[in-house]
Amino acid sequence: MPVPVRYVVRPRSRQISLRMDSARREAVAVLPRARDRKRADALIADKQSWLDQHWQKLPPPMPFVPNGRIMLRGRDIELRHEAGRGTAREADNAFIVPCPDIANFAGRTHRALIAVARQTITARAQHHAAALDTTFSAITVRDTASRWGSCSINGRLNFSWRLICAPDFVLNYVCAHEVAHLLEHNHSPRFWAQVAKRVDDVKTPKHWLRDNSPTLFAIGAEH
Ligand SMILES: [Zn+2]
Repeated sequence: MPVPVRYVVRPRSRQISLRMDSARREAVAVLPRARDRKRADALIADKQSWLDQHWQKLPPPMPFVPNGRIMLRGRDIELRHEAGRGTAREADNAFIVPCPDIANFAGRTHRALIAVARQTITARAQHHAAALDTTFSAITVRDTASRWGSCSINGRLNFSWRLICAPDFVLNYVCAHEVAHLLEHNHSPRFWAQVAKRVDDVKTPKHWLRDNSPTLFAIGAEH
């Protein structure tokens, strides 16, 4: 299929530019003015093979379909549809999603994964916060495109639901990292000393995220 392109008009940019957004799985064309659209299309046509190359390097999509496979807690598991209502649940090598209407399976699966992520991340953040003798004011778990986690100056924690798809040591590290920001709103040695109280090995989870983020963003992708 052709590489999807998102057009963004940004008056402060000086020229038309094109880049690949592997998180959103689309190309982004930045235009100084809306009327540059035609010239942008010419640039896209010109760079087609470059775009195709980048597109083919993206991991295959893992759409939320019955019997589809996704990564959950770092493991390859199957999505299973169950007739009727009820709460989605994890089973051996499967995530079971009750859904009366199969047309809603993708949406239900997405919401159920966010709920599982919220539960796991909240428990882990509370655990780290208690151990570091601090508290947070609120926690949000949603789809974030640019950051796995963040901590606001007023003590609100924010996480990507996709962390539930990563292995536990990765989720654990991101939770410890953001909780440590409740004490140190910077990346100073004092901050890393707080993180080190909770996580022995910081490099391995960091590298895992760097190497596997396109895979995490392929989960639930339609194309
Ligand atoms: Zn940080």
